Formats: sequence, structure tokens, C-alpha cells
Amino acid sequence: MSSNHVPKGFTTKRVHADRLLNRPQHGAVHEPITKSVLFDFDNAQDLIDVFQGKKVGHVYSRSSTGSANALQNMVNDLESGVGAVCFSTGMAAISSTLLALLKQGDHLIVSQFLFGNTNSFFSTLSRFGIEITYVDVTDASNVAAAYQANTRGVFCETIANPVTQVADIERIAAFCSQNRLLFLLDNTMTPAPLFEAKPHGVSLVFTSLTKYIGGHANALGGAVVDCGNYDWTQYPHILPLYQVADKTQWGLTQIRKRGLRDMGATLAPEAAHALAVGMETLSLRVTKMCKNAYELARFLDAHDKVKAVYYPGLEHHPQHSRSDKLFKHFGGILSVDLVDGADPVAFLDALSLVLCATHLGDNRTLALPVAPTIFFENSAQERAEMGITDTMIRLSIGIEDSEDLINDFAQGLAKI
Ligand SMILES: *Cc1c(COP(=O)(O)O)cnc(C)c1O
Repeated sequence: MSSNHVPKGFTTKRVHADRLLNRPQHGAVHEPITKSVLFDFDNAQDLIDVFQGKKVGHVYSRSSTGSANALQNMVNDLESGVGAVCFSTGMAAISSTLLALLKQGDHLIVSQFLFGNTNSFFSTLSRFGIEITYVDVTDASNVAAAYQANTRGVFCETIANPVTQVADIERIAAFCSQNRLLFLLDNTMTPAPLFEAKPHGVSLVFTSLTKYIGGHANALGGAVVDCGNYDWTQYPHILPLYQVADKTQWGLTQIRKRGLRDMGATLAPEAAHALAVGMETLSLRVTKMCKNAYELARFLDAHDKVKAVYYPGLEHHPQHSRSDKLFKHFGGILSVDLVDGADPVAFLDALSLVLCATHLGDNRTLALPVAPTIFFENSAQERAEMGITDTMIRLSIGIEDSEDLINDFAQGLAKI
């Protein structure tokens, strides 16, 4: 059935997005997995026109494919942006974008509570002469205090992992807008419908599609979406070549050419398909994960073998009321500290259903001791600044039945 009906509900949109946005041939409901590296043209002039952007098409699959474009349309629709670029991983989206937009002598204000690999990438950027100031982004006055004449932007995450600090998003957005700074937000932890980046003034929103959006631990991918809030004519480093007629596309054009094309972290077509299928059930999965996480957080918070629970949904969380305002639910990640003397490794080994693994946003519930794994490369002092204790365990809550999860944690805690 063809339809001109535009769905309004979040899940309705996701379920029909591939069909309605990409119009696959023969009424297929999925964009086909397009594997060709090269593209043939009827005549040489067509090839030249596509190269020069005068005609729409593909020239070489590192730069674009039907599969990646289809997912870009769907990710962009998710964020109501002015365009998206997909990459092979979330890290590729972040690194390629920042390398495409920054240059030596620039300054960035960056959250001191960051995903470990992003934090590591910023230390690489600083080796190339890009100055980084790390601040506590739970209070926007720290951001304002770090401002310099050469500041280009502010980078943070919505809910940081593993300690779940929540950024002062509204005030950071206002500060960025007043000072013509890029507001760069990693929204991996709170994908729509949990958080809407565009109405919150975000310039570029980054997402690891590998996590909640894919959801099934079967494909890597990342994306950057331009929310359309930033006036690129104010940005000093858009090369004249990329100052295209549509000014909303200046940033994305440079990201696509200097980031995706030149750095080459292209999303694989099979991955694009798997991520697009995952996105259809995004709201159902994330809502269930958040409900399970809330129940587990309350259970663990009341347990006598647990010293501390970090979860924005708990009333004692320092940014609980801010989280209530910003997010539809409180997310699917929580971290715990066991009581002194309890061995976190023994506890993890005592869990039977929960997987001991480093990933998040998966259908399955996962547990990880963070200090000796993902933050192993950081010094004890750096971990302390991020609020990470040596015995902290991060939990990524899945979609299982909550009784099964509570039973597993209960029996695991009973054994230590
Ligand atoms: C996982 C993650 C990334 C990196 O994504 P990959 O797809 O694994 O490269 C970036 N930011 C956050 C917050 C993440 O959790």
C-alpha cells in the first residue's frame, strides 16, 4: 500500500521510517544492502557532475552508499535534524568530525566525565596543538569560567558513564549560543525518545549506533546529526569549497569530505541494515530497559551489601530533578559500589544470568568492573576526578523480565 500519510507517534515513525523515507524498490520495507564499491555512469559528464555535487549519486562507496544514506535519513529523522553522517563506529563519528572541524590553536571545553575512549581521543587531539580544558559540566559556570578567545566549542555527554553525572545542558546550550560556540553533545546514553537534542539547543549530536539504537550487539556504527541550531557562517574554519548555497549544510559538507571521505571510517552496508532494523524497536527496548534499571536501582539501593548506587532516577542523585526535567526516563545505566571488603570480582562471578562484558544498551543485562577495564589506562588521580572508585561495577540493564534480574542480583549478593 502506498501512503502519503505521515505518522506522528515515535514508534510508528521508527517502524515505517525505512519504507517512507527511503522508498526502497518494489515495495520492500528495508533498503537493500548495497555492496558495490564502484558506480557506472551512462556518460562521462554524469560522472563529472556527481563528483562535483551537481547531480545526486554515488561515486565510490567509501564516500557514500545507498545503505549508509538510508540509515542517515533515518537517524536524521530521529533527531529532526538538517542532515546526518554515519560512520563505522561511534568513535569514528566523534574523531572524524572533530578532526574535520578543528585546527591547531583552537580550544575546546570538555567534560571531565567522559566515555574512556573519547577522553583518550581528546588527549590525542591535545598532542596536535588543540587545547583542551576539562571541567565539571554538571555546573555551567565551570564552562563559562574556562572560556577563552580561541574556544570553538563545548563537548559533553548527557548522562556520563559510569557515575551517571548529568550535564547542565540548558545552561551550557545558552552559554554556547551567546558565544557562538559549537555545542557538541554525545547522546549515546539517552537516545530519542529519552532526550531531544534539537529543542535543547545542541549544535551537533553524536551517537554510538552500536549501543541502544542497534541494540542487539550485532553491528558497529556511529552518527553525527546537525540539529540546525548553529549558524555555520559564524564558524571560522569552513573551507570556501564547502560554503555551499544551503548554509545549513556547511558543517556537514566539511564533515562528509574531510571527515568521512578523507579519514575513511565508512559504515559497512551490512551494519547499516542491522542498525536500521534495530532502530524500529528503539522506543520499546529503551523504555523497558529504563523501567528495569529503575526497579533494580531501588532494589540495590536498599540492599545491605551495597554501599552506593549511582542512578539519576534515585532521589538522592545530585542531578535527580534536572534529570526528571531533561529526560523522559532516567536511562538504562547504573553503577554500584559494594560495601567495604566485598570483592567485586567474586560478586561478578556469582551472577548467573547477567553477562560480565563491556558494552551497553544491549538487550541483555551486562556488568563490568570499570576501574581495571575501561579506565585501566587512566591514573588513579584521573579516575578520582571522574568520580570512579576502584571497586565500582557498571550495569547496563537489558530488556529481561525484571524479576529474573532481581533474583540474579539477590543470589549474587547473597554469595559474597
Ligand atoms: C560506546 C560509546 C562511544 C563509542 O562508540 P563505538 O560505537 O563503540 O565506537 C562513544 N560515546 C559513548 C558515550 C559510548 O558509550
